[in-house]
Amino acid sequence: MASPSKAGAALAALREELVGDVFAPSDAGYDEARTVFNAMIDKRPAVIAQCVNEDDVVRAVRFGRDLDLNIAVRGGGHSVAGSAVNDNGLVIDLRHMRAVSVDPAAEAVRIAGGATMTDLDRACQPHGLATTGGRVSTTGVGGFLLGGGTGWLDRCFGLAVDNLLGVELVTADGERVHASADENPELFWGLHGGGGNFGVATAFTLKLHALPEFSMALLLYLPEFGREVTRTYRELIAAAPDEASGGVIYLTGPPEDFVPPHLVGSLLCAALLTYAGPEEDMRKLAEPLLALPHEQEIVGAMPYADVQCMLDDPPGMRNYWSAEYLTGAPDEYLDVFCAGGEALPPSATIQVLFPQGGAIAAGPHEYPVPYRDAPWAVHPFAIWEDPADDERCRQWVRDVCAGARPYSTGDVYLNFIGDEGTDRVKAGLGAENFQRLAGLKRRYDPDNVFRFNHNIAPA
Ligand SMILES: Cc1cc2nc3c(=O)[nH]c(=O)nc-3n(C[C@H](O)[C@H](O)[C@H](O)COP(=O)(O)OP(=O)(O)OC[C@H]3O[C@@H](n4cnc5c(N)ncnc54)[C@H](O)[C@@H]3O)c2cc1C
Repeated sequence: MASPSKAGAALAALREELVGDVFAPSDAGYDEARTVFNAMIDKRPAVIAQCVNEDDVVRAVRFGRDLDLNIAVRGGGHSVAGSAVNDNGLVIDLRHMRAVSVDPAAEAVRIAGGATMTDLDRACQPHGLATTGGRVSTTGVGGFLLGGGTGWLDRCFGLAVDNLLGVELVTADGERVHASADENPELFWGLHGGGGNFGVATAFTLKLHALPEFSMALLLYLPEFGREVTRTYRELIAAAPDEASGGVIYLTGPPEDFVPPHLVGSLLCAALLTYAGPEEDMRKLAEPLLALPHEQEIVGAMPYADVQCMLDDPPGMRNYWSAEYLTGAPDEYLDVFCAGGEALPPSATIQVLFPQGGAIAAGPHEYPVPYRDAPWAVHPFAIWEDPADDERCRQWVRDVCAGARPYSTGDVYLNFIGDEGTDRVKAGLGAENFQRLAGLKRRYDPDNVFRFNHNIAPA
């Protein structure tokens, strides 16, 4: 621990040297700067360094090391565990590093480490290009990508990490390294799922794909049709091309334009079919869903970047999530899924059944993302407002996972869970991969400075 006078002098120097802003607890703006997406997280860092370029990140890392501070890295601030912030440590906040530059000829995009999904999608859209992104616009590309990355396009373009071409990283020593298939290939491998364990990613380069058209069908049903909807959806996906994705969602009708006023506040089962192609092909695919009695339909072509903003979850709410990958979706499991939906706690909570397969399963199997062969995933996502509902909402998530466990592959997607212990981190990376990643951690971060993540302790 540094003496108060050393710490004070170092903080003054950091304020002087950093192009971006620096916040200490007594500064105006500190509370806004430490707030993350999950309102259950209330951490008080000693210093928040809002970096605006790579030099700032290097300075901030060296400042943290000199003062022996634990370092958290903030991308979009969406992690449910709140690992973007810490108590009494340093936060390297990348929220102002959001530049995105598209190279249409090379079909590649360079994204700064603090960009959000909407920065990426909006920059690519005018070129008719896209890559796999998350399903809401405000998620940080950094945490999303380093953890694997799933979204509406993964069945045709693979997981987000399958599209990674290069990463610019500042290590725990404050050194700059570039990782790609040719440069530091072992580090590059580890960045395909190993999260923020190896340093601060200041920029990513990703492969882009042509996406000239995008269409979708969102249908709302009364919950009594849930069993038929889930079965119909399963059969539809089994026969669908890789361009089709989406999910079956249980939700409480939110006060949004797509929900008829009489259904706001009511339990609903929704089927979402997204399609990376023209509306007419999507409409044919959606016929079995349209044939079921439904209360609302939104069907048509829509720019991909607009679809990405449709389901944005409200910030400032309490969150608790988990997930399980499934070996299949037999009728018995679909009944369990529907029962979980019927027990949905209040507010903005959702339960989603995501189809996998396609390019996810066909993708490269050498990376530490062991879940790619699972055909389905279930994701209970509790979102609520009143602390009095904390235990009820957490218990509902645990119950959904317990119900899914007999059908689970045992793998997990770390970006969809909070802090569930080291065994779950191993399950999210694969036991053998975990050992190899621990060796990589020893090389790049032997003191485990970057520990606010799904942590891999150095071997
Ligand atoms: C509303 C919502 C919807 C979501 N939808 C999806 C989805 O569709 N698909 C999906 O795959 N995931 C989804 N997620 C999960 C999301 O991928 C994870 O929460 C992810 O960790 C968010 O990244 P972030 O940068 O916003 O978070 P942060 O909390 O800022 O960071 C998460 C972790 O990544 C590290 N990190 C972030 N950026 C960097 C960087 N540049 N360099 C080094 N380390 C970094 C942080 O230190 C932290 O450990 C969703 C999350 C929310 C809240």
